[in-house]
Amino acid sequence: MSERFEPQPSCEDRDEAPDLMPVASARAALLDSVSGVTATESLPLHAAVGRVLAEDVLAEFAVPGHDNSAMDGFALRAGDLPTNDTTAELEIVGSAWAGRLAPCRVEVGQAIQVATGAVMPEGADTVVIQERVHVDGRRLTVLGGEAVGANVRRAGEDLAVGAVVVAAGVRLGPAELGAVASVGVEQVVVTRSLRVALLSTGNELVSLHSGAALAPGQVFDSNRQCLLAALALIGVEVVDFGIIPDDAEATRDAFLRASEAGVDAIIATGGASVSEADHVARTLREIGELTFWRVAMRPGRPLATGLVGHAPFFGLPGNPVAALVSYYQFVLPALKKIMGMRDLYSPSFKVQCSNALKKSVGRVEYQRGVLSTQSGEIQVRSTGRQGAGRLSSMVQANCFIVLGETQGSIEPGDWVEVQPFDGLV
Ligand code: AMP
Ligand code: MG
Repeated sequence: MSERFEPQPSCEDRDEAPDLMPVASARAALLDSVSGVTATESLPLHAAVGRVLAEDVLAEFAVPGHDNSAMDGFALRAGDLPTNDTTAELEIVGSAWAGRLAPCRVEVGQAIQVATGAVMPEGADTVVIQERVHVDGRRLTVLGGEAVGANVRRAGEDLAVGAVVVAAGVRLGPAELGAVASVGVEQVVVTRSLRVALLSTGNELVSLHSGAALAPGQVFDSNRQCLLAALALIGVEVVDFGIIPDDAEATRDAFLRASEAGVDAIIATGGASVSEADHVARTLREIGELTFWRVAMRPGRPLATGLVGHAPFFGLPGNPVAALVSYYQFVLPALKKIMGMRDLYSPSFKVQCSNALKKSVGRVEYQRGVLSTQSGEIQVRSTGRQGAGRLSSMVQANCFIVLGETQGSIEPGDWVEVQPFDGLV
């Protein structure tokens, strides 16, 4: 079996036009053309997961509120700690637990038993963990070698008064909501949810729900399910406009209805090229504003963007992998910006590739890869053939292998950039 995976011929190869737009410029222009929503709402924390914070949450008090013990052990004065090879005998004068204060001050020669989270007794500044002491009734023997100030969590070490707990523009997940709760905030102000119109174009498409068997040349409308899922993951409400035939009037009518629905964006797949049957770009030019790019990328070269009414329009290629790649690389960052997020790009990092990859200079390729760990080292391999219609390659993959514009073919062992799918939402 050959190690080298050949790209398959595709209609994207129809011509090698010199006027291809670099991915970075197309993405920058697209992001420039959209702006964030301004409307906000106030929600209780349990209802705010996945939403984007519209205003900084500030700490009105410190977390933790008081110096407290980080461990179960004995609170004492650092001056009573023995030197390295000696021991010290102290008197245990009480105990303190999380939520129950010590009964008295710790004086010279004394210790108070503390549980994790107990407020540090007055006079004490160090906690020796219970595994490092010997207890005999009220007598405590401490061994040498303990650090001054050890095992104490200082007031405000997590959050000082006035600190930004979570900044505006951050999507609220478990850690953020926990941090907000830790400063006693019950409601957060978030940007309103987005509504997006979704439509599939193509005479060959058959709706899953129609119950019809496929005639020769027909395909199920899989892009809709793909994009419904992708949009659900970021909490976008979808207004579903179904399948639009390759017909100028039907396309115009659908675009107008979508814009009248007051959506924040319109996403269409298919018909985005420039053939006779492709009505998306033409219709956009006619009733809205068209910015049509042939982006120097594979898969997913044609990208029709613009405006219909007030709604930004994203016309993605019909090929399922191309549609999804274009969604992740262009539409997702744009939607993040519209919903008020600050961090728009998905994380990527470099790993060694275990097999050869065929790659042409002059375009960015988003090949499908599988990240795995071999002998403790993370590496990536290709899923194999990379045709833009092979959605199975996306199913097998857990990352994109992002090969830059100036990059040529890859040999086994070369370092490549990967973008994990899990980081893409
Ligand atoms: P187009 O971009 O309209 O030229 O379509 C390119 C390819 O993608 C064709 O093979 C279409 O049948 C296929 N395709 C277009 N839309 C969809 C869809 N919604 N679901 C699955 N395949 C599609
Ligand atoms: Mg089509």
